[in-house]
Amino acid sequence: MRVILIGFRGTGKTTAGRLLAEILGLPFLDTDQIIEERAGKRIPAIFREMGEPAFREFERKAIASLPTDGAVVGTGGGAVLDPVNVERLRRGSHVFLLQAGEETIARRIGRSDRPSLTGKPPAEEVGELLRKRQPAYLRAADFCVGTEGKSAGDVAEETLKILRDGPTSPVSRVSGMGFLEKIPLSAEDQANLSSMYGKVGDSSVGLCAIAGYPCSHSLSPALWNRLFARYGLPYLYTSLEWPDIGGIIRAVRDLGIRGLSVTIPFKEAVITHLDGVDPDARAIGAVNTVVQCGGVLRGYNTDWIGVRTPLEDIRGARAAVLGAGGAAAAAAFALRSLEMEVTILNRTVEKAENLAERFMCRAAPLTAFRDLHPDVVVNATPVGMHPDSSSLLSGEDLDAGMTVFDLVYTPPETPLLALARKKGCRVILGTEMFIHQAREQFFHVTGIRVPGSVLRELV
Ligand code: NAP
Repeated sequence: MRVILIGFRGTGKTTAGRLLAEILGLPFLDTDQIIEERAGKRIPAIFREMGEPAFREFERKAIASLPTDGAVVGTGGGAVLDPVNVERLRRGSHVFLLQAGEETIARRIGRSDRPSLTGKPPAEEVGELLRKRQPAYLRAADFCVGTEGKSAGDVAEETLKILRDGPTSPVSRVSGMGFLEKIPLSAEDQANLSSMYGKVGDSSVGLCAIAGYPCSHSLSPALWNRLFARYGLPYLYTSLEWPDIGGIIRAVRDLGIRGLSVTIPFKEAVITHLDGVDPDARAIGAVNTVVQCGGVLRGYNTDWIGVRTPLEDIRGARAAVLGAGGAAAAAAFALRSLEMEVTILNRTVEKAENLAERFMCRAAPLTAFRDLHPDVVVNATPVGMHPDSSSLLSGEDLDAGMTVFDLVYTPPETPLLALARKKGCRVILGTEMFIHQAREQFFHVTGIRVPGSVLRELV
């Protein structure tokens, strides 16, 4: 077993970590101490004489050299800002984020001789750095433990209890398992889940899932389980196909599910069940990713990143979005973030007008496409999705200079893309959106940045 403690300075990583290691009969390793031993000087001197980049380099090397098993490890407060460190720390480990409020941290580290990283007074610096680092802490953790008002012994005990029993109480796990029994899971997933939650004392595997109705044919479980295996993460990903998002979210809380991908028809409705929503997701009005830490559920939208990333080299162009549903909202938000002038064209013009108003775009009926001559076309309707073999546009609508992005990915080469290719347009497949939104989703849930090439290979 390898237990990693992350979090800001003053959250008790060293004191609680030493106690936890003692109880588990494992050595306690402190990455800051390893760095000081290797550098032959204390951390304030490394910062003063060599600068922060040199310190971060020592830190990377210290993390790379940690034993892969049989240790409790305390890490420096900035270690998980680097996704490469997160990848190394997470492999085969259980990662705990220790948390405390700004005032408590400032009080606990008040007399430290560590150098300032911002040049601001200590209390102000703690607040600023905590806000900046919080997203990275939440991504890199499997579990969150509050240390406010608790002794190091209390924190070690709580950590131990999570390691032994999982993050939720046995009573809520029984209720969550009751919910899972109603869902048509594969025999393999059912067996895995029973061994994970059926008996207290086996919480060594965490759970992630996709929630939708329907979603049993999603590509996500196969992709995520391959990613978990590749990065050595003790997780299983399954699909929760159920008509009521309220019931799904109750099960997510009861079972301590770490990450949830949300798909049709719940992307809007899920918002009211969450404890916090990222500002981009709030602006789009849809959440497709939920991450749980310490019983708190936070929602994000990664669909817009999936549309934006393949188009990032184009700025300020004129774009047309076909459709005015959820995918079109994510596309409009993405294109506006690239400073594009966007027209939303939809069968039901009223829906296009509503969307256009939210994102400062224009609206028009589908028939108006020919007058637009856009540089970028995004199809955000299901037209062309198997078994439909039609296209909303004809060859006459397309010019060689256009970039045509079809969000439909079954089949990868849709009738619209085949026409666009024939006309000499630049074409972008719907699988690109899937890959980039999944990459961002995996990042929110694990803190690991998967190279696009790895995802393409796995998809
Ligand atoms: P949605 O909310 O149901 O919206 C569908 C939109 O398509 C509506 O604006 C609808 O027009 C229009 N539409 C449907 N059938 C049409 C037809 N026969 N002719 C003209 N317009 C039609 O669906 P969504 O969530 O936005 O998803 C749309 C598509 O995006 C999906 O089918 C999927 O293929 C794709 N998608 C891909 C990814 C990916 O990762 N690549 C992710 C999400 C979605 P009305 O308003 O007139 O009904």
